[in-house]
Amino acid sequence: METHLENCIFCKIIEDKAPSEKIYEDDDVTCIKDINPASTHHYLILPNKHIRNAKALTINDAELYEKMVSTVDKILEKQGLDSASTRTGFHWPPFNTVDHLHLHVISPIEDMSLLRKFMFKADSYWFVSTDYVRSQLQSCS
Ligand SMILES: [Zn+2]
Ligand SMILES: [Zn+2]
Repeated sequence: METHLENCIFCKIIEDKAPSEKIYEDDDVTCIKDINPASTHHYLILPNKHIRNAKALTINDAELYEKMVSTVDKILEKQGLDSASTRTGFHWPPFNTVDHLHLHVISPIEDMSLLRKFMFKADSYWFVSTDYVRSQLQSCS
């Protein structure tokens, strides 16, 4: 089974075939700096295998999904960020940007512009929380 897609920028980054600033990586996930940051700190946590988006996750991905979510704590600690001032979440189709699942970690929320606050609006139709994705994942079993 293919785990990487030829023309996917995030797959290339994971395989070190495209430049990026990786701040964390292990066997399952990779965390990079967003090239277009919405605040002082803006990171993307990617599964190392290609999954299209949060809607494409299945119950079989539950373990990997929890690994992505727990990586948020690692990043907060590593970068010295306050979780109360941090926005995390996923694009919800059809409002995708890059078609490789990524969990946004943005901090501090207070430094985001109005446009970015709208783009990454908590619990909107287009940007959803980790809890929401988890509930969707469980319901499709
Ligand atoms: Zn990919
Ligand atoms: Zn994105």
